[in-house]
Amino acid sequence: EEDRALLDVDGPALGDGDDDGPQPVVAVVGRPNVGKSTFVNRVLGRREAVVEDVPGVTRDRVAYDAEWTTRRFTLVDTGGWEVDATGIHLRVAEQAEIAVELADAVMFVVDATVGSTDDDEAVVRLLRRSGKPVVLVANKVDDERTEADAAALWNLGLGQPWPVSALHGRGSGDVLDALLDVLPEVSQVAAYAPGGPRRVALLGRPNVGKSSMLNKLTGTDRVVVDDVAGTTRDPVDEVVELKGRTWRFVDTAGIRRRVHQTRGADFYASLRTQTALEKAEVAVVLVDASDTVAEQDVRVIQQVIDAGRALVIAYNKWDLTDEERRHFLEREIERDLVQVPWAPRVNVSARTGRHLERLVPALDTALESWDSRIPTGRLNAFLGEVVAAHPHPVRGGKQPRILFATQAGTRPPRFVLFASGFIEAGYRRFVERRLREEFGFEGTPIEISVRVRE
Ligand code: GDP
Ligand code: GDP
Repeated sequence: EEDRALLDVDGPALGDGDDDGPQPVVAVVGRPNVGKSTFVNRVLGRREAVVEDVPGVTRDRVAYDAEWTTRRFTLVDTGGWEVDATGIHLRVAEQAEIAVELADAVMFVVDATVGSTDDDEAVVRLLRRSGKPVVLVANKVDDERTEADAAALWNLGLGQPWPVSALHGRGSGDVLDALLDVLPEVSQVAAYAPGGPRRVALLGRPNVGKSSMLNKLTGTDRVVVDDVAGTTRDPVDEVVELKGRTWRFVDTAGIRRRVHQTRGADFYASLRTQTALEKAEVAVVLVDASDTVAEQDVRVIQQVIDAGRALVIAYNKWDLTDEERRHFLEREIERDLVQVPWAPRVNVSARTGRHLERLVPALDTALESWDSRIPTGRLNAFLGEVVAAHPHPVRGGKQPRILFATQAGTRPPRFVLFASGFIEAGYRRFVERRLREEFGFEGTPIEISVRVRE
């Protein structure tokens, strides 16, 4: 079951995409409890109950691969952005704003049985400003008697309210048809545009040196944005020339605007990280080499892995380290960053500029791995040897075998193993280790899922 979910859940629009360009992105926004997740599950056609009866439950994954008739798109459920780990509520308009910025079209879900509230009106204003096409989902219209409630939502001024019961499926086909009418074939969101400069996110805990690094990088080689194709939008990004090529550093406004937020600072930092990751292809996570590796560093790195982005780790403030500190740093890395032995590492100083030029080769390596594809024949020949030499342990008198493997996608590389029985997590990690030994994948997470063939 778990494996199937892995396969169904895909990264946001950056996914594999086909040759025509990235698939369009649809954001599902609305107040808590109007039925966004229920609607998303309905569209995805999944039976399992992801919806929980607790308002604002945090959900890990927010972007899904969806399909209606013959069209594919990325569906972003904003449900997970309502509450952070410490329980601070974000205003609905704020979480919606980010989703809308990154979407080609918006499905605005309203609880028709409640009618429009002040929060709904706030979102409506935001949607108008965005200029994005909006489809109004009048949810919880479970039967004909509530149709009139849906009609009342004409007063939101967003055009036709589509009566839907996400719970029972009523009307969901019509509203998806309406969506496809306004959805472009290929994403028009500048952040996802193919062929432009590669997109980098600078991440790390406060004071680690992100803005110093950005200043150092842009100070010398800032590029006139209008000169570069596909860079005229997204003023929050900065385009920089490094080693003769242009790179787009995404969401830099969040770095420059030194928000002094006392309450919920952690939450906003993590939200910024998430937003930047959605736009980026590769992340440079800065870690303060002069200070102990912190839980927060590990968390940011985990966010990069979860988002399926390429990763480079930059140990900054190297100028402040001495022999002794460097010795302890190595120990800390072994202990605290065990999950990312594959990430390229650069030891830099944003203040002095030391070794900043090593960033580009590290980014290149990580992105090349992230894009890479292993031919099916080679993959299976290699796995055949691995499995023959180290078979899965026998469990309950049976020996699950890997029958066949295929690379289902890139960016990051995703593999599917077809097996004759349940493959244990330990064996999966073993397979991942061997794949890395053989094929490298330096700087990229890889995903391995298993499908059991009865
Ligand atoms: P979200 O917070 O907007 O993602 O809302 P959820 O999808 O978690 O749904 C909130 C509650 O509304 C849950 O108890 C759902 O079962 C319920 N719900 C969602 N859609 C419908 C619907 O179409 N009809 C009815 N009657 N209840 C619904
Ligand atoms: P941010 O919060 O991650 O953007 O961090 P800043 O760039 O604002 O840096 C925080 C502090 O660390 C500032 O006082 C910087 O001057 C200092 N700093 C940043 N990078 C370095 C470095 O490489 N070496 C030293 N010695 N100080 C640095």
